[in-house]
Amino acid sequence: MADTVIRNATIIDGTGGPRFTGDVAIEDGHISEVGSSSSRSAIEVDATGLVLAPGFVDVHTHDDGALLQHPDMEFKISQGCTSVVVGNCGFSAIPAVVGKKTLDLSGVDANWTDLEGYRHDVEKVGPAVNAMMLVGHNTIRSLEMGNERRAPRDGELERMREHIGLAMEQGACGFSTGLIYRPGRWSDTEEVLELAKAVAPFDGIYATHMRNENDYLLEAVDEALDIGSKAGVAVQISHHKAAGKRNWGKVKESLAKVDAAIAEGARVTLDVYPYTAGSGPMIQYFDIKNPNPELAQAIQLASCPAFREYEGRMLVDIAAELQITAPEAVRHILTAPDGKQTICIQHTMDEGDILSNLRHDRVMIGSDGIPDLGGRPHPRLYGTFPRVLGRYVREQGILDLESAIRRMTSLSCDVHGLTDRGRIAEGKWADLVLFDPELVVDVASYEDPKRESLGIQNVWVNGQLAFNEGSHTQTGSGKVLRYREH
Ligand SMILES: [Zn+2]
Repeated sequence: MADTVIRNATIIDGTGGPRFTGDVAIEDGHISEVGSSSSRSAIEVDATGLVLAPGFVDVHTHDDGALLQHPDMEFKISQGCTSVVVGNCGFSAIPAVVGKKTLDLSGVDANWTDLEGYRHDVEKVGPAVNAMMLVGHNTIRSLEMGNERRAPRDGELERMREHIGLAMEQGACGFSTGLIYRPGRWSDTEEVLELAKAVAPFDGIYATHMRNENDYLLEAVDEALDIGSKAGVAVQISHHKAAGKRNWGKVKESLAKVDAAIAEGARVTLDVYPYTAGSGPMIQYFDIKNPNPELAQAIQLASCPAFREYEGRMLVDIAAELQITAPEAVRHILTAPDGKQTICIQHTMDEGDILSNLRHDRVMIGSDGIPDLGGRPHPRLYGTFPRVLGRYVREQGILDLESAIRRMTSLSCDVHGLTDRGRIAEGKWADLVLFDPELVVDVASYEDPKRESLGIQNVWVNGQLAFNEGSHTQTGSGKVLRYREH
């Protein structure tokens, strides 16, 4: 007897193939039947008029700490996400030193040193979603070299390679970099290549927040492709974008480079979030001695522990009120006590570039949300997936629903090694989302970002109901997954 049967759903199976109507039965955490189910079950769900899809995979997250701090993961499960890839942009919760803060974006107190320890602690709290780990360059470099502005010595490089090897043995899917951030920015191509080679024996991936996403975007793409090719690993280009007005439109050229590499046999995929603003730690974007005035014009404050009253406001308005220049306002905020914890939002991108990304069939969806719930986080944390389905699929017709779902599910799972997930088929894990295709849409805004989207009705994680018509069930059935393991 099945645990749950979802009847008469419009099934979009994640492969990109056309929708069909049918039933899906769940038993022991897995999909036991697809089509017409004669199973009887204690729980019957009438899905008439609703779409049943594999649970969405957020391939670009900074949820390493959130899985422990906010195990209900409301901001993800309410979007239909059933798995998250953590450790992006070179910042991961592993490796860590017991009793010290982790070197990811959350900075939680570590009670572990490696992925096994982290997995144990996360699964103990019972997260609502599954997680897959990338091991971060900034993290391992900080551990071995602090913030040293030089190339690693042989012993240091070897120890960094050992950290990567251990993470891969323990089930990480690859190695990530954040080459605009400190200390990753102090590394040269050779260093990154030597480290990327450490994932090759595991056939892991190289995920990169590239060295430049504005004036030198195309050179940065060349570097990423070169590293992938020389290391013999697949490349995932993170949050693909062209920032700064003079660079708008370059995303097309960059995608052309990717297409050319793929034609030559390279394995390359990308991710995008559907917003024209980015977000990250403000201290990382500015030289305190000489803050970039152009960038300062585009800054909005997300989380600002030093001045909570600034959260949600544009920096130029704060500067005007204080009767100082925008660069002076940058210094005023960053040099205040706790100023370095400030998270900002940068309005620097072009809508046309988002459309180019969404139209490309190797581009997955990833939120890049920063789960600092104290302030006003970028709305992508709550809205990314429903925004693609509502705004770009239904309202604008930029891509069809089957294609959008493939790039939220099977493609994401195949590349990141979430085996037996991302497709609706017998024997697969029952990570599922049921939503109303006529209603689904984001409602989180820059002004009011912590709002759950509309139209997501039910979400199952490993066969357990995690989200039921707006309520979080606290089932806690998520796991920290192992790369390519069943
Ligand atoms: Zn990044």
